[in-house]
Amino acid sequence: MRRNFLKFLSLAIFSSFILPLNSLFANTKKIINKNLTKKQKEIMFNEGTERPFSSDLLRESRKGFYHCANCGNKLFASTSKFDSGTGWPSFSEALPGAFKTKIDYKFGMKRTEYHCAKCGAHHGHVFNDGPSTSGKRFCNNGLCLIFRPE
Ligand SMILES: [Zn+2]
Repeated sequence: MRRNFLKFLSLAIFSSFILPLNSLFANTKKIINKNLTKKQKEIMFNEGTERPFSSDLLRESRKGFYHCANCGNKLFASTSKFDSGTGWPSFSEALPGAFKTKIDYKFGMKRTEYHCAKCGAHHGHVFNDGPSTSGKRFCNNGLCLIFRPE
């Protein structure tokens, strides 16, 4: 009897640790846009990177906002976009609360990776060598973005 109770108790404790974690991941990484291409999914949900100089958004210079291609979250204003010469769309700052960051040690480098705060999709990395007063350079995969002109 006591043994069963202990078993039940440890199971209850165990699941209270595991279940919130599961629901956390389910909420933070979710494919919302069913029309995402294979390449977009690879970047956004498997931390991939598009080829440099492949994004049409490099040439985009109209006024407007850049949104998450998966969930539509508004991420960057066109006023923060600049040409970094790296081959990826670059921004000096993100809109408040747009992203969550995580340290990534891939390729033996310490980099700060950022994810859409709403759907958890990976977008790119942020560096501290930006040319503007913010000092930031958000290096974003163009395939993760949708531009909406104003
Ligand atoms: Zn998103």
